[in-house]
Amino acid sequence: MLATATFVLACIAAFLALGYFGAPILLWTLAAAAGLAYLTFSPIAWGVFIVFAAVLNIPLLRRLAITDHILAVYRRILPDMSQTEKEAIDAGTVWWDADLFSGRPDWNKLLAVPAPRLSAEEQAFLDGPVEELCAMCNDWEITHERQDLPPQVWQYIKDKGFLGMIIPKKYGGLGFSALAHSAVVMKLSTRSSAAAISVMVPNSLGPAELLLHYGTDEQKDHYLPRLAKGQEIPCFALTSPEAGSDAASIPDYGIVCRGTWQGKEVLGMRVTWDKRYITLGPVATLLGLAFRLYDPQHLLGEKEDLGITCALVPTSTPGVNIGRRHMPLNAVFQNGPNHGRDVFMPLDWIIGGKDYAGKGWMMLMGCLAAGRAISLPTSSVGGAKALVRFTGAYARVRAQFKTPIGKLEGVEEALGRMAAHCYMMDATRIMTAGAVDLGEKPAVISAIAKYHMTERARLCVNDAMDIHGGKGICLGPNNWVGRGYQVTPVAITVEGANILTRTLIIFGQGAIRAHPFVLREMRAAKEMSGAEASREFDDAITSHIGHVLTNGVRAWVHGVSSSRLGQVPRDCAPETRHYYRFTSRLSAAFAFLADMSMLAMGGALKRKEKISGRLGDVLSMLYLVSATLKHYEDQGRMKEDLPLIRWGVRDALYHAQMAIDQVLSNFPVKALATFLRWTIFPLGMSFRPPLDARNRECAQIALTPGAARERLSGGMYVPKGDDATGRLEAAFTAAIACEAIDEKLRKAVKKGKIVPQPGADIGLLAKEQNLISADEYAQWQKKEALRKSVIKVDDFPQDFGRAELAQETETRLVKAA
Ligand SMILES: Cc1cc2nc3c(=O)[nH]c(=O)nc-3n(C[C@H](O)[C@H](O)[C@H](O)COP(=O)(O)OP(=O)(O)OC[C@H]3O[C@@H](n4cnc5c(N)ncnc54)[C@H](O)[C@@H]3O)c2cc1C
Repeated sequence: MLATATFVLACIAAFLALGYFGAPILLWTLAAAAGLAYLTFSPIAWGVFIVFAAVLNIPLLRRLAITDHILAVYRRILPDMSQTEKEAIDAGTVWWDADLFSGRPDWNKLLAVPAPRLSAEEQAFLDGPVEELCAMCNDWEITHERQDLPPQVWQYIKDKGFLGMIIPKKYGGLGFSALAHSAVVMKLSTRSSAAAISVMVPNSLGPAELLLHYGTDEQKDHYLPRLAKGQEIPCFALTSPEAGSDAASIPDYGIVCRGTWQGKEVLGMRVTWDKRYITLGPVATLLGLAFRLYDPQHLLGEKEDLGITCALVPTSTPGVNIGRRHMPLNAVFQNGPNHGRDVFMPLDWIIGGKDYAGKGWMMLMGCLAAGRAISLPTSSVGGAKALVRFTGAYARVRAQFKTPIGKLEGVEEALGRMAAHCYMMDATRIMTAGAVDLGEKPAVISAIAKYHMTERARLCVNDAMDIHGGKGICLGPNNWVGRGYQVTPVAITVEGANILTRTLIIFGQGAIRAHPFVLREMRAAKEMSGAEASREFDDAITSHIGHVLTNGVRAWVHGVSSSRLGQVPRDCAPETRHYYRFTSRLSAAFAFLADMSMLAMGGALKRKEKISGRLGDVLSMLYLVSATLKHYEDQGRMKEDLPLIRWGVRDALYHAQMAIDQVLSNFPVKALATFLRWTIFPLGMSFRPPLDARNRECAQIALTPGAARERLSGGMYVPKGDDATGRLEAAFTAAIACEAIDEKLRKAVKKGKIVPQPGADIGLLAKEQNLISADEYAQWQKKEALRKSVIKVDDFPQDFGRAELAQETETRLVKAA
């Protein structure tokens, strides 16, 4: 009996050890042989065993007996992919997402990636022209009075090269790193969304980026210097009324034909399009246009439907209609429709020339990741930084119930949450921009960054609005939150609307691209044949099975050992060591669950967007946690920032756990779900939401002047002038400097030494009774004046000043005439 129990225990231990360390098939075979030798020397049993062992260990036999049959079935069930789907899947690169998908992230590799740094020239640009541009922007004037950037701001943007940050120096551009590009957009976003978006768009997916990758030398030499110097204002027009998220279905078309161009007969195309939502479109001089090109007369070759094509069209071309504007939630960056009917253009307007006719989708997908990794994640971080800094200041200046509202627990909860989200967002921004600078075009990671940074910005702005109360609602020059609240859905919607990004792209693309074996299996099935396909598929599928087994065992072992065996980097701060272990555990659980979901649902998983979205959430949380832990190391383990890391990481791990729980609760195969739950959560769900005490510490960082607050809002434009946010900064400093005086006044009132009459100046009363000095009174008065200015909200005449504005305009026109 004891011997049997020992044997069973030894078998379990061997299974766990082999599985945990991902042992090769040969080791499994030897272990099985040892077990069999213990049980029997029966020739029949050994005969069967040897046949099995030979089949499993000899690739040729394994292929003939097993994996070729799986390949045949796999080929039948694998859904066909359209060319556009294939190009989307193939686009970009994989990076840290592949480690998270492996179930065994190599933390040493991540921490060895050098901390991204700005060059001296980039820093000087931020401290000079960017600072200056921010100071030139008055958001109320831009968003309400002018509904555009003032002409001098436009000119400054062009003159200083803001529109050519990604264009190399040899073409006259600034040739900035992704990190610098991100830092510029972030700083501008803390001052004016219109300025930030106007700068962001030409540096994201559009004419410059496409020209750099695919343009002919002639196109590059002509356009890039003009784009760099702002002599051309570019836009990129893909979206049509009928094709938004499903952009590959654009109905806009071009027909290859002969025509006359500048007096000569040339081969060209007649293009008809109707686009909407195009940023910078109303003022663009150069229209990047996507349409489907057809060649019915076979002037270019055999194919009739050449596919999506991208061309550069000067907007001065007869038949190009631009100029009308949309009004995207009062964010007044230039945005509008444009259209043209049968506009003739030469074939060499196609980006890359006629050889690139029909390759537009591949070009767009290939260039999408870099821009998506920077633009919207970065502007969202900018928004969050400004919100945390201003809301913290306001919560310290604004008092109710004789207490600064930031010290009331309910407000503290929202503020602490904002601060922790902001830290994690900045960490993600920097790590992601750093990856782009390493040459990555991180397809899945850019989708994660886009979705989660914009969503966290939305959480931050909702909290900020709540904390500001009526002050955030009444628009005017004294409201620094309302416009941010209005503009948030723009970031949510563009460059892949968020619902689609979460439910279709993050896991959908990740499961194929970042998974170590799925793409290999698919390529073997669809793109290879004969022995080559058989060999490749056999290798991929056997490795894949081992990978599933290893991750299942690891998930369970980590579960029963409370993550004690989870991988950690060689050198990390002791105070964050356990977070690496937890993340390693969830990475193994995620990798196992992802494979089991694909096994259980196959191609249908693509349509099960609720499941796919939650799997994407797990992957995303692991990425965000990785970025946060790396940022802590890269910044030199700043102990004061620890509450932000603790809150953020714990919150993200908890959300990852709950997303797994939701996948399991909704798993279509119930028996398998039970098995998975038992494997992943053998001792139940152990991750808990962040503690209130951590939340309080995070709020304190936002409420207290000091290095941690400066780091948290680092890189934003800190207003110095006499505008609303400048006065808020001054009021914040004054409120803190006056705390001792306020305390004296409070005690004096409490002890009845001064009896404030309605409307009385209690500071003056205290000074008259020598309870505070004359200097203290002066300081207190100044603070009170600033406080009153900060809590002020704007009001307007009945017609919101329209009559006055019309009068002013008329006077100006008369003067001009
Ligand atoms: C202010 C602004 C600026 C823009 N700038 C540009 C620009 O410069 N150039 C350009 O070409 N385009 C631009 N766009 C277009 C933008 O990219 C599209 O708005 C976006 O792709 C979504 O398309 P849609 O608005 O038509 O929404 P729809 O496609 O109608 O989508 C509606 C909802 O359905 C969801 N959805 C759609 N398909 C799926 C799916 N398969 N699974 C789950 N959910 C799905 C979406 O997530 C969204 O929530 C801009 C848009 C705006 C509002």
